[in-house]
Amino acid sequence: MKILILGGTQQARHLADRLANRPDLNLIVSLAGRTQDPLPYNVPTRKGGFGGVDGIVDYLRTEKIDLLVDATHPFATRISQNATIAASHTGIKAWRLSRPEWPQEAGDHWISVDDHDGAIAALGARPARIFLTIGRQEVWRYQSAPQHFYLIRSVEPVDGEALPPNTELVLARGPFGEVDEQALLQAHRIDIIVTKNSGGEASYGKIKAARALALPVIIIRQPQEIGLADVVSIQDVLERLR
Ligand code: NAP
Repeated sequence: MKILILGGTQQARHLADRLANRPDLNLIVSLAGRTQDPLPYNVPTRKGGFGGVDGIVDYLRTEKIDLLVDATHPFATRISQNATIAASHTGIKAWRLSRPEWPQEAGDHWISVDDHDGAIAALGARPARIFLTIGRQEVWRYQSAPQHFYLIRSVEPVDGEALPPNTELVLARGPFGEVDEQALLQAHRIDIIVTKNSGGEASYGKIKAARALALPVIIIRQPQEIGLADVVSIQDVLERLR
């Protein structure tokens, strides 16, 4: 059976690791190619966009894919939507790996917003020291609130023109544990964190650190699910493929 995993997440890596030793499965992980030097996978990978829905349809047919597993990030909505349409055009079986939002817990001081505009509005006019942990693609939006200091963490360097004026950039790759996150927040005298509600384990350390330090978190809700209806956990995938 030939399986295409749409990746770019730790979840995709975990799934690929769990399936890599199955001789009856032929796996390929697809990466968008945004990270220059991604951590290696135990299975073959392909890199780069497909070219929209038609490109995915062509790929599924040419490569004779039997199953598509969408393990992309919950905020990567375009690829999920395209994959959903391509799967229905081709009739190929397709599953979406679930990644529920983190629930707010006692001790969390969250301001939940729908998008970056909501996050910027919630930051307010008074200058503050922000830990902006949203990936690098949308940091340019925060140029509209130049009064704040931003600590920005990214795996890849960020184009200087995209950065707000008062910024410090930290290049690092997760996962990040609670203790290290607390140290980072304290070293930079952070007042507020801005993050996406990505769910999963890999980036939860900052949420725990904020709780421990009683820091407010402006948290962007996951976009409405527009992807595949058949939502599964990694365990479900393993059981279904047993
Ligand atoms: P997106 O907006 O949904 O996708 C934009 C375009 O990038 C897609 O139309 C597709 O190009 C290409 N693409 C995205 N994921 C791909 C994949 N796995 N394989 C091949 N092509 C892919 O996605 P995004 O938000 O830019 O995210 C890009 C990648 O980073 C995804 O793999 C995602 O899992 C990962 N990621 C995203 C976030 C986030 O916050 N958005 C966080 C962590 C990791 P074509 O139309 O040409 O096919």
